[in-house]
Amino acid sequence: MDRNVTTSPAAFIRRRIADVSAYHVEPYPVEVILDANESPYPPPPALAGRLRKIMDDVAFNRYPDMNARALRRAIAKMEGVDEAEILLGNGSDEIISYLIQATLDPGGWILTPTPTFSMYKHIAHCLNVETAEVPLLDDWSVDIAKTLNEIKNKKPGVIFLASPNNPTGACVSPSALTAIIESAPGLVIVDEAYVDFADSSVGPLFRKRPNVVILKTLSKAGFAALRLGYMMADRQLVNEVNKTRLPYNINSLTQALATEVVSGWSELLPLFSEIKKERERMFANLASIPFMKPYPSQANFILAQVNKDVETVFGSLLKNGVRVRWFKGSARLGDFFRITIGSPAENDRFINSLKSMT
Ligand code: PMP
Repeated sequence: MDRNVTTSPAAFIRRRIADVSAYHVEPYPVEVILDANESPYPPPPALAGRLRKIMDDVAFNRYPDMNARALRRAIAKMEGVDEAEILLGNGSDEIISYLIQATLDPGGWILTPTPTFSMYKHIAHCLNVETAEVPLLDDWSVDIAKTLNEIKNKKPGVIFLASPNNPTGACVSPSALTAIIESAPGLVIVDEAYVDFADSSVGPLFRKRPNVVILKTLSKAGFAALRLGYMMADRQLVNEVNKTRLPYNINSLTQALATEVVSGWSELLPLFSEIKKERERMFANLASIPFMKPYPSQANFILAQVNKDVETVFGSLLKNGVRVRWFKGSARLGDFFRITIGSPAENDRFINSLKSMT
């Protein structure tokens, strides 16, 4: 067979993959990073000391514990569930992928309120799964009637509800959650990535509602570097989803360090309180700037509309060394920023930059 030697090997890639972009993070360095929903704080000194010691004992020449027993036990204890009800992922992103793989054949559907975390749709797309999107109402609450209608039409095998939602900061109301769980033909994933900054959690809801999966991560709590997410669900479901998990997906360093982090979780609570306090201060400050309209948030960021030339405002912030997330080009959020809550000094620098533009 003749081969066309000028054909790029990229031509062998599936159309669906060729059509999308890789997850993008701004590469240029700034002093104040408020665009990634990370914690501004390193671990408290006592915990940091213990973490450094633990690293000395990691057996680098050995594969990790395939089932990460110690870490799952520590998470189970913290969450008040059984370790058989826990599955770990290299970030919760990986678990989102496992859940879609394990549940849906190509051509199946997921459903998400929108705007929401972009990876649900991205992963579904890569796996030849379709996404039904139901726009959130103007106060960022779930449009229950439209959602129930789409559930009837598309019969989604997985429904993703981020609560608090990224990028709106709003929680799904108990009535919306109940209505969706009761009409879902498949799984309902309650993604609590930001729950450490919220007033409440749904808790081990899967015990009462076996089609519910709870998703959590250490990334927003100050340990984004470890890449550790976990899901909690019915143990038989965990067993099945576990079949899609790649061997040794949680490396030995993360297993050892995260076990200590989870066991010392109470030491992190003052940092979460500090971030929540700063969030309320930031909200008041943003509300006092005539061209910013902030929305109430239960997460470690605030979504705000910019009623001024958004490109100029974004550029001026960058010149002042501050980077926020701008949803450039988005139909609904093109003039919005998502601002991560930083340290008090970082937040002041951001607010003062904005004030200098009034
Ligand atoms: N869920 C939501 C709602 C998120 O915003 C994020 C991070 N942006 C994730 C999950 C993924 O978190 P990770 O993979 O770092 O655990």
